[in-house]
Amino acid sequence: MKLGTTFILWSAAGAAVAVGAAPLALGAIGASNASVFGVAGVTAGLGLLLGAPLAWLLNRDNDRLNSAVQRMNDEGLAFMPRTSPFFEGVLSPLRVAMDQSVSDAESVKARVRELEIRSRITEGERGRLEEVLQSLQDAVLVTNQFAELRIANPVVANVLGLSIPDDLNRSIDQVIGDETIRKLLHEAHGTGMASHRKRIEIELPNAGSNTEGAVRTYEATLACLPDPNEAIGGVVLILRDIQREREISQMKSEFVSKASHELRTPLSSIHAYIEMLLDGEAGDEKAQHEFYQIIKNEADRLGRLIDNMLNISRIEAGIVKAKFEEIDFVKAANAAVEVIEPQAKMKDITVRVKSGPLLYSAEADRDMLHQIFLNLLSNAVKYTPEGGRVTVTVENDETSGSVMATIADTGLGIPPDALPRLFEKFYRIENYKRVAKGTGLGLNLVKHIVETVHHGQINVTSELGMGSQFIFTVPYTRQGAMGIAA
Ligand code: ADP
Repeated sequence: MKLGTTFILWSAAGAAVAVGAAPLALGAIGASNASVFGVAGVTAGLGLLLGAPLAWLLNRDNDRLNSAVQRMNDEGLAFMPRTSPFFEGVLSPLRVAMDQSVSDAESVKARVRELEIRSRITEGERGRLEEVLQSLQDAVLVTNQFAELRIANPVVANVLGLSIPDDLNRSIDQVIGDETIRKLLHEAHGTGMASHRKRIEIELPNAGSNTEGAVRTYEATLACLPDPNEAIGGVVLILRDIQREREISQMKSEFVSKASHELRTPLSSIHAYIEMLLDGEAGDEKAQHEFYQIIKNEADRLGRLIDNMLNISRIEAGIVKAKFEEIDFVKAANAAVEVIEPQAKMKDITVRVKSGPLLYSAEADRDMLHQIFLNLLSNAVKYTPEGGRVTVTVENDETSGSVMATIADTGLGIPPDALPRLFEKFYRIENYKRVAKGTGLGLNLVKHIVETVHHGQINVTSELGMGSQFIFTVPYTRQGAMGIAA
């Protein structure tokens, strides 16, 4: 409020009080009218005289209060005027108390913020941990100190048939059906040693298999989680599927034993014929020549075996060097037919290449493509009786964006039970072993060249006694195909 207005108001109030109070007081003591108004006039003057300084004083403090409040609003709660005893006495303690509560509020706010940040970090870490667990290929399960299920990733849920999240926080005895796993977990809980670690191999029912009784081998690792009281805080169980590793190592030893057997056969033959020649058992020159020819054939077979084995292992190891270039498949097929022609003629088998008027070309390695045609044509001629026919058809397969070649024969055909095993290493149809010599590696190599090196596909269809068709595709472009272009 402005100084003038306050001054006038307070002066008028003082006068009014004095004017009102004086007649009342005088009336009470029974004074006359004239003296009443005379005294009223004097008291009014006194009222004015006293009201004015009081008004000025109150106004000054009022203004200070207003400006203090204004500054408090402008500058915050730290500011407080100290100029008047009234403020010193009343507002100073209030200010201290307010300062205290403001600083308390600030520290509470800071604590809340810190807790919020911590909780976000914990949430983030938990989320990341969950993501890690979800992406793991190993099965991971964690129990608490009461042997209740606390964490289970999808793999463990699948392997042990758990239903997540329903089974969480339930006793392992209620949720884990497999007795071996339950026993392992209880053992770990019972040891009471925080550093307890154990690795064993166990067999569990194969969750992904429809075959009754199928099992997979896992390596189980158990670790106890310590808690602050040195007791068992829980147990972590990790199950690693080692079935594939087992199969691979089994395949390796099978390969070594088959390879040694296959290598030994021609070697023994060579050895035997050389012995006969040395012992003079070959007889006349014609017989000797025959022996030499057998030795040469066996040595060739040995060479082929070694070449095939090396080529396959190079492709499998990913170290094969392929030189990709645009290749006309009709020309490539004709080149292989030329090589096979003498063999076909000996059995009176006609071999021809069929194609349309278009260009049938794809990016491929010339030598490897030649090897594919040669192996498939050689088999077709080997397993087709005299007078039969072998036809190579080259066409474009627009659906898959590839060149497609079919090598069809009118030969023996392949029994249905042999079809799924045909591309396995060293697999040969038992009954056909006396029909033709072979290594059992030709088709495996072809499959590797088509699929691994060229990212194409190979399939076979056959009817026993009616002939077989081997169909392979090579994508027009080598996008993503393996190998290093020279
Ligand atoms: P091999 O050197 O014995 O011919 P492959 O791997 O090329 O080895 O072939 C594996 C087996 O598949 C052969 O031994 C044969 O029993 C069978 N086979 C391959 N091609 C044909 C075909 N065109 N007709 C009938 N059987 C075939």
